[in-house]
Amino acid sequence: MDREAKNEKEENDREREKGVAAMVACYQGFDPAAYLQYNYMPPRADFDRQDSIVPWKLGCLHRAFTEGDVGGDVLVDVGSGPTLYQVLSGCEVFDTVFLTDFLEVNRQELRRWLQGEGYSSLDWTPYLQHVCKLEGRRPSAWTEKAARLRSVVSDILPIDVHLPRPLHPDSQLPTAGADCLVSCFCLESVSPDLASFTRALGHIRGLLRPGGHLLLIGALGESYYMGGPGVRIPVVPLDEAQVCASVRASGYTLVRLEVYTLPQGMMVGVDDVTGVFFVKARKP
Ligand code: SAM
Repeated sequence: MDREAKNEKEENDREREKGVAAMVACYQGFDPAAYLQYNYMPPRADFDRQDSIVPWKLGCLHRAFTEGDVGGDVLVDVGSGPTLYQVLSGCEVFDTVFLTDFLEVNRQELRRWLQGEGYSSLDWTPYLQHVCKLEGRRPSAWTEKAARLRSVVSDILPIDVHLPRPLHPDSQLPTAGADCLVSCFCLESVSPDLASFTRALGHIRGLLRPGGHLLLIGALGESYYMGGPGVRIPVVPLDEAQVCASVRASGYTLVRLEVYTLPQGMMVGVDDVTGVFFVKARKP
């Protein structure tokens, strides 16, 4: 590499580090209880409404996990935040589930529910009941699903998707990698730009075994969301073509993309999201 190219690369690396550091600073004010209130209560989580956003996401995950091709022992959820909805279908298929997040406040929130002690910021019962219904079970089976989830989550780990190895080497993940990754609303909302989003997709690919699946849900057209009162977090605004291109560029085979367009009633002033994508992809 000649001197000019080397200088340019160093300059790019410095800019990238600055962008990532700015995102880390934004997350310092993240408030799990407020985030859950903004996004995981009606109207966004209205199980009586066909066009509500949460039932749409749960439907995508239910279909993906019951098509028969997603399976194995280990499921890793990347950037769980304070939420559990994203593993309510997968916990029936996988005997070992790892939840992960960058922030201790979120890991703590998850621990509180999983240990069944103390105060939990959201009642997940309607979510558990809804997924039981999707599975053709009686809604009262939700207690069995809650017990199943508590029994299969083997750890809640720190993660940083900007690192080439996002999990600490001491984590109990099999060396061959997980059989499936789920990640919802994480990569686009922690990346300063599209290149960084694509790079993060490549980093988490390293956690997946060859032949394993990636189930990715995320925001379309979003430039910010509120992570708590006065906590405005920038987001990379993505369109469908960019999502597909990033997934392919980072070494996955795209199986399918589904898109949800936000109806007026779902725009509740906590972000400027216009749609949601669901991607099912495979690591060759
Ligand atoms: N998965 C949840 C959901 O579906 O609502 C939470 C998504 S929230 C928009 C983004 C999450 O990414 C937060 O929980 C945040 O703590 C986490 N996060 C922030 N920086 C991260 C990083 N560098 N690596 C991994 N996760 C990060």
